[in-house]
Amino acid sequence: MKAYRMTKWQAPPEFCDIDIPEPGPGEVLVKVGGAGVCHSDLHVMEYPEGALPYPLPFTLGHENAGWVEKVGAGVRDVTAGEPVAVYAVWGCGRCAACLVGADNYCEKAPLFSGGGLGFNGGMASHMIVPSARFLVPLNGLDPREAAPLTDAGLTTYHAVKRSLSVLTPGSTAVVIGVGGLGQMAVQILKALSPARIIAVDVSTEKLAAAKTLGADEVVVSDDRATASIQELTHGRGAELVLDVVGSDATLQLALSVSRRLGHLTLVGIAGGQASFNYLSVPTELSLASTFYGSIPELTEVLTLAQAGKIKTQSELYPLDQAALVYKRLHEGKIQGRAVITPNG
Ligand SMILES: [Zn+2]
Ligand SMILES: [Zn+2]
Repeated sequence: MKAYRMTKWQAPPEFCDIDIPEPGPGEVLVKVGGAGVCHSDLHVMEYPEGALPYPLPFTLGHENAGWVEKVGAGVRDVTAGEPVAVYAVWGCGRCAACLVGADNYCEKAPLFSGGGLGFNGGMASHMIVPSARFLVPLNGLDPREAAPLTDAGLTTYHAVKRSLSVLTPGSTAVVIGVGGLGQMAVQILKALSPARIIAVDVSTEKLAAAKTLGADEVVVSDDRATASIQELTHGRGAELVLDVVGSDATLQLALSVSRRLGHLTLVGIAGGQASFNYLSVPTELSLASTFYGSIPELTEVLTLAQAGKIKTQSELYPLDQAALVYKRLHEGKIQGRAVITPNG
């Protein structure tokens, strides 16, 4: 099969011909229906050797859904043909975090690893999933639509859910960056909370999309953004600020519109910095970074999608266009989520 793979650090991925793998004991072979094209892969392509704790090569694609093709010895929980979403972070299954389904914070697995990140992912016709524990039934969702829910959906769902206690009626949530993840964040905020939602982006097209998805206000990310948001919140700032970008500029903006006792949650991995000292941030502001969500949270995200409360804004592309799609993503030209469909 053709696979789109990271073969060298700080170099573009390559199309390679590799064998369709056989599932070993406990493993499941999944026929890939959709593999989302995530902005974080662009950072992975830029990282120097040693920045991530795993060797090359591996096949990209960490937002996957498809159908069970074949199961290895001892697998009884799933059957061939079943449509499934693939939970992306493959923990040990035995530590305290994994035992509650929070494999994203596994105490034993290497940081930031899973299918498409260190292990072979979904940018190929098939991928091996190491345990049926990582497969969640789609219950009627199309795998091509469901794929982005496993990262763009799950990551933002977790980031919103942990802050629901501050999103009371009359509160404000600011989402900085409304590309693939941010558009999911807006919909999830709308589905789960009464907060007024302010979407921020440099792209007026993405802001227009955010508005149709439930943003109450949109603000262009320029040097007036802080003033505009402060005006919209009557100088109080926002109870929750989700920084889906994570650059120096967006973190600075996030801090400048956060409020006392609020939450500032960093989801984007652009690697920016901001200063944190007693006077530079509002009192009792909680700062957190998050990484994905848990397996139970993935089932909740899929349930929201099954109920029609959130929808992925997907553009579908064949596998042989993967390089072009990443280029378009890098140029900011993908409006929602690009999804590679290796099996058509
Ligand atoms: Zn991602
Ligand atoms: Zn674990």
